[in-house]
Amino acid sequence: MTMRILSIVLIVSASFMLLPGCKSNDGKMEIKKNSFGKTKEGTEVFLYTLKNHNNVSVSITNYGGIVTSVKVPDKNGNLSDIVLGYDNVDGYIKNSPYFGALIGRYGNRIAKGKFSLDGVKYKLATNNGANHLHGGEKGFDKVVWTANELRGKDTIGLELTYISKDGEEGYPGNLNVKVNYTLNNRNELRIDYTATTDKKTIVNLTNHTYFNLKDAGASTILDHQLKINADKFTPMDSILIPIGKIVPIENSPFDFRNFTKIGKRISSKDEQIRFGLGYDHNFVLNGNVNQLKHAATVKEESTGRILEVFTTELGIQFYSGNFLDGSITGKNNIVYNNRSGFCLETQHFPDSPNHNNFPSTELEPDKVYNATTIYKFDVGKK
Ligand code: BGC
Repeated sequence: MTMRILSIVLIVSASFMLLPGCKSNDGKMEIKKNSFGKTKEGTEVFLYTLKNHNNVSVSITNYGGIVTSVKVPDKNGNLSDIVLGYDNVDGYIKNSPYFGALIGRYGNRIAKGKFSLDGVKYKLATNNGANHLHGGEKGFDKVVWTANELRGKDTIGLELTYISKDGEEGYPGNLNVKVNYTLNNRNELRIDYTATTDKKTIVNLTNHTYFNLKDAGASTILDHQLKINADKFTPMDSILIPIGKIVPIENSPFDFRNFTKIGKRISSKDEQIRFGLGYDHNFVLNGNVNQLKHAATVKEESTGRILEVFTTELGIQFYSGNFLDGSITGKNNIVYNNRSGFCLETQHFPDSPNHNNFPSTELEPDKVYNATTIYKFDVGKK
């Protein structure tokens, strides 16, 4: 009898042990697939919406592997979107500053689009002034990926694959890329990147989601509080190319070792802040490569929302949406004004192929490129 009472108590209390702020749904994890429109070439692309037990949902399109929406609860349990983007694929095709996209082959800049491997010089597409940015004219954010739905025991996900041909955007080697997005019931969106090549090449993959934990871009992110697990960063020149130094962040506007409002020092006279028009810098994460470690946490007080980032990468580009200027109207007719979203792009350092003192981004034919990043969504106490 006592045992029965005990087990009833356990079952009842287990059902209350949900994540704070999360209302239980009908208990089903599900994937929904809908048309998301057509590319210019007439290829139909799809939107896959992954939903977990807590009703948290993440929508991803196989056009550019773009995360188009992330719906998470606030401190009162109300679900709403926290990422910037568009309602359909046309917006992404016409004009997108990489909203939510998978970035490759090389996330961030390569000076003048030039690098050498074993004495062979390569010239990449230059799409950012004289420099190469985020994979070139038609990077991984603008290609159609092959999608496969994934259903695990406690996860649901989407496998995206793409073969980037030898010479694409100037890169050597046929590159086979696989990106798995998975959502679990701890409200973690996990991104696993793998790639192999048939010729020595360079790879640096990332995701370019713009977050605004308050209102998905209707207001600025300047009051969001940020903490980055980095003691150093890589300063850059006026066209955002690293000068090659790795510098301590102490006593600078880049010290985010304790929670600090993004807006607090964003208008400082610091030369690096001026070059970036705000924050657009690579932070050198504490910890080792291939080890999943805490990279950053962002808190938004009015909603209680918290975003934590974990990664196996060595660097993280913190971009404070400085180039958003009100010229884009996105989902739900929201106008994206300056600094209405921030990105935390886990990566190797920018322009690594041209800096011997930066960790290598080279990939050999007999090796596998592996990287993992987790975005975990949570809420603080009411
Ligand atoms: C870069 C910015 C760039 C933006 C494009 C970021 O990753 O660091 O400099 O303007 O992407 O939207």
